[in-house]
Amino acid sequence: MTRHTDPDASLLETIGNTPLVELDATPNDVSVYAKLETFNPGGSVKDRIGKHILERLLERGDVPPDGTIVEPTAGNTGIGMAIAATRLGLETVFVVPRGFSEEKERLMTALGAEIVHAPGDTGMGEAAEMAHEIADKRDDAIVPQQFETPLNVEAHYETTGREILDVLGEDIGAIVAGIGSGGTLMGIAQAVRERVPDVHVVAVEPSGSTFGELLNREPEEAPYKTEGIGTHDPDVTQLLDPDALDDVRTVSDRAAHAEVQRLAAEEGHLVGSSSGAASVAAREVAEEIAAGELDVPARTVVTVFPDGSDRYLSKNIYGSFDAWEGKA
Ligand code: PMP
Repeated sequence: MTRHTDPDASLLETIGNTPLVELDATPNDVSVYAKLETFNPGGSVKDRIGKHILERLLERGDVPPDGTIVEPTAGNTGIGMAIAATRLGLETVFVVPRGFSEEKERLMTALGAEIVHAPGDTGMGEAAEMAHEIADKRDDAIVPQQFETPLNVEAHYETTGREILDVLGEDIGAIVAGIGSGGTLMGIAQAVRERVPDVHVVAVEPSGSTFGELLNREPEEAPYKTEGIGTHDPDVTQLLDPDALDDVRTVSDRAAHAEVQRLAAEEGHLVGSSSGAASVAAREVAEEIAAGELDVPARTVVTVFPDGSDRYLSKNIYGSFDAWEGKA
């Protein structure tokens, strides 16, 4: 495998082309592959949109060459945008709701970003409003809004989705991925459907999140700990096309947490809770394919591990479930 062996490559060119590896704990005759997004320089899938969105905004002249990016983010998008901004000569201000991982905030600060806090109990809605208020006061600032810009989906259509096709060709039965903005899943699904029209597309959310309403389910709203996916307001993102989804599956915090620990102890993967949830759902789909309960065009399931566990150590991700939940 060749990965970034060009000594003249810039840091932004090392984003993407992440490894796709097969998981061990899968049923006979069905493969589950995970795209390992920790291999990006900022350690998450969001480096892809940071690079793509900022480069396009500069190209289009939507932000001046030394302008400012203001974005509501729980962290990974901030890190990805801050890396791109540093390389492209832009300033960054991030509006971060309270209660998310402290490590992410420290990384954004190290990358030169200014952090403004939004109240944690209001979801991303208030953070978005605050971001617009900040940007309105400056004449060089823009709010890219990852939950609204088609450039988010486009980043994954052009990179993540095509990379998966480059490795697996048409041997793809199902795509299973967590949804926050939905950019990752929508972009991959768009790219893969061009080659595999019947691929089964599954969104994953934590139990207690309410994206299921988009498929006319009646999810029960409750707090959850799994970080980076889910919502209590399905209208928060404009990127999710319900017609493009075959299913929305929920994974409990308890199952995601146990899977994070199993993936480390048994398979050597150091991943965050949204990866744990994606893995649980991907393995469930694989079991159903193996049992003949799900009709898919190939016996191969693809999922995404969006980030690593190191940024959740202060949240006790490798402690007991109660310690992770903050009850201990
Ligand atoms: N997992 C983690 C850890 C994330 O930070 C995000 C982005 N919020 C996601 C999954 C979901 O990605 P997307 O926004 O593309 O749906």
